[in-house]
Amino acid sequence: MEIKIERVLKDMENIVAFTKTPGKGCTRFSFSSEDQQARDYLLAEIKKMDLVLTVDGFGNIRARYGGEELNDLPILIGSHIDTVANGGKYDGLIGVLAALEIIRVLKEENAELIRPVELIIFSEEEGSNFGITMLGSKVLTGKYSLNELKSIKNGDGKSVYDVVKDFGLAIDNVENEVLRKHEVDSMIELHIEQGAVLETEKKSIGIVQAIAGMKTYRVTLEGESNHAGTTPMNLRSDPLVGASLVIAHLQSVVKDSPLPTTVATAGKITCEPNLPNVIPQKVEFYIDARDVEMEGIDFVTKELFQKVNEVCKVHSLKCHIELVGKSDSKQLSPRIRKILEQEAIKNGLDYKVMNSGAVHDAALMSDVTDVGMIFIPSIKGKSHCPEEFSKLEDIKDGCQLLLHAVEALAVKKNVIHELQNR
Ligand SMILES: [Zn+2]
Repeated sequence: MEIKIERVLKDMENIVAFTKTPGKGCTRFSFSSEDQQARDYLLAEIKKMDLVLTVDGFGNIRARYGGEELNDLPILIGSHIDTVANGGKYDGLIGVLAALEIIRVLKEENAELIRPVELIIFSEEEGSNFGITMLGSKVLTGKYSLNELKSIKNGDGKSVYDVVKDFGLAIDNVENEVLRKHEVDSMIELHIEQGAVLETEKKSIGIVQAIAGMKTYRVTLEGESNHAGTTPMNLRSDPLVGASLVIAHLQSVVKDSPLPTTVATAGKITCEPNLPNVIPQKVEFYIDARDVEMEGIDFVTKELFQKVNEVCKVHSLKCHIELVGKSDSKQLSPRIRKILEQEAIKNGLDYKVMNSGAVHDAALMSDVTDVGMIFIPSIKGKSHCPEEFSKLEDIKDGCQLLLHAVEALAVKKNVIHELQNR
């Protein structure tokens, strides 16, 4: 079976037009009027195919093909349609449109299924409204109670509960709609890589084996504010110097850390007072540590605490380190990865088994089912910006591999064929 790439591109062109910032990238936040336009478009396409549609109380869309007479658990394919402010065309959307096209093809070919195939579209993946990423898949997998959704607010002080309710969704139902373990067979997400590994290695496909976990620390260093001209160097306690020593230390030790997958990033520095001729009083910065192995994150944590303590002694500073965010690394399903690899080999695709440094809805779904992920190259690794770009032939390869994996998991003659090959 083959996808028709021109239909995927047409869908993309139509949905990309729903942006709050024409000419300045895609701005399509969940629960906005642009989101509503994109949903209307997709729901119309789903209607044309007569799929079994459910929209849960958080706006996650599921559209099932071949369900009525099959008792087997469905395979979910899809991603998200929301964006960051001034984002790109491909992030999320490509995975949704690939899934939509695959169901079109299955239907046109009258594929005889052994299990249903479902398009899934997650709400609010980017965290654009409330600063919490993957909120749709978190709600779907039961990570938030209704009460918590009432207490989380956006920049205008409006709660998740009220925003979602005002969008016309039955948010009061979400606790009854949680997806439990073993309610679906598997889930596969096609996504752009958002990094430059595949392009650099000239591969058209990435098959993800693990998604990195992360810890975010807020570090506060306090010293003594004083005159830049009259305070001798040996009488200073300068928190900005302390911060720079910590940041430089982490950069160099993590570069040579025991695991090649560990990364650490310093960001969001605030300095008080922030003046050209005054030694600052207080500096606050964040350290974001990520790895697919928790040992890597623990390594950054240990180095951070040791270096901060050392610097505080030498420079007479006070320090406070607080863990402000955390997510666990996730191993994806070996069963699904094996199918993806088999199908990539069979179809002559040059692929790389790799990790994902970014977190995706697939990571949350891996708590409840077998999950696989396909990456396609992002040119220059750019994402979350209007320059985000993936080549047509790579998009086609990614869609095609997803289709082959769905065939191997759900289409009768392919599944039997798979069994014979074992
Ligand atoms: Zn995404």
